[in-house]
Amino acid sequence: MLDPVKAGDIAPDPISADLAGGVLTVDLGALCDNWRTMRAASGAAECSAVVKANAYGTGQGPAVKALRAAGCRTFFVAHPHEAFLARAAAPDATVYVLNGLPPGAGRRLASAGVQPVLGSLHELAEWRREAGDAPAALHIDTGMERLGLTAREAAGAAAQGVGQISLVMSHFVASEEPDNSLNDRQIARFTELSALFPGVRKSLANSSGIWLPQAPHFDLTRPGYGLYGGNPTPNLHPARPNPMRPVVRLEARILQLRDIAPDDTVGYNARWRASGQRRIATLSAGYADGVLRSASVRNTGAPQTHTRPHTGGAALVAGVLCPFAGNISMDLLAVDVTGVPRDAVQAGDMVTLIGDGLNVDEVAARCGTIGYETLTSLGQRYARHYVGAA
Ligand SMILES: *Cc1c(COP(=O)(O)O)cnc(C)c1O
Repeated sequence: MLDPVKAGDIAPDPISADLAGGVLTVDLGALCDNWRTMRAASGAAECSAVVKANAYGTGQGPAVKALRAAGCRTFFVAHPHEAFLARAAAPDATVYVLNGLPPGAGRRLASAGVQPVLGSLHELAEWRREAGDAPAALHIDTGMERLGLTAREAAGAAAQGVGQISLVMSHFVASEEPDNSLNDRQIARFTELSALFPGVRKSLANSSGIWLPQAPHFDLTRPGYGLYGGNPTPNLHPARPNPMRPVVRLEARILQLRDIAPDDTVGYNARWRASGQRRIATLSAGYADGVLRSASVRNTGAPQTHTRPHTGGAALVAGVLCPFAGNISMDLLAVDVTGVPRDAVQAGDMVTLIGDGLNVDEVAARCGTIGYETLTSLGQRYARHYVGAA
């Protein structure tokens, strides 16, 4: 009889570049530099790191280890299982679970030394029942209307005693819009409600919140997106360059090059038609790898409806920005490389989908989404290279 499969037997081997369609390179040095930049911008507050969703697609284990070595002591994740991974990577760090306390999970969280961010009076009561006086954070809602205690509930919670509350926090609705009056409203509300919890540490700012002119840093800041290279200051007037270093670089291999005739169409449903002689490169990446289907470039048939107008995706081929052609497939996509000198490109070459100035924010804008989604959609079947670790 065969032995039952053990977890170790099915743990995937690292994927090597020659056997993968693409290579994802994560610069842990840049990640740590970005954390230091966020820490400097956070004034006297402690700077934590938000590493939910596999550290925004970059790989939670390597990210947590690198950030811990750089001096980060506090980490935020969304789910308990993510917290256990963070704990394993940084056993002496403080780990908070943003999504709160799932029913029945209290004892396991407490024994692992993980703290839920309690988002309702119900969760607070359950935590006390299951975890006794183990510490936890409290989420106060100041305008998102998603999770968190109302003003009245916050007063009720404060009246029950603040001893085991290690942190009170809230979350900005629109901190990437410095002109939005919601920011001042939320800062005022949070200042007022968090004062119900004397002596308890306070936290409000995400990446963009850290850079607001009001400097709402309180005791602890919670950057995520900016750590991974996204621009936390996209709407400043006058504009200023992204203060963050790029962290993610994504390359895919050219499988074939083909010269096509006028009126030939490319890809599923024939949604791109050559206006003349064109040269097409077929890349070994598709929507299963996180190149969103909304990055498709179409010039035939009915126009696609989008929430925002966008140009569609592009790749850097031998340094030339080349637009995608046609619908993105699951495992393949086509790029119009007519603008690249013929002898500068051949099958087997790697082209850049993110990196070399084609940054995460631009890649996202080209397919009508935000860089957060681009990062968290990064696929699982790339060869992953981690560079620049301390
Ligand atoms: C995701 C998240 C953050 C980090 O936000 P960024 O915009 O990625 O910096 C901070 N706080 C909470 C509550 C979050 O859910």
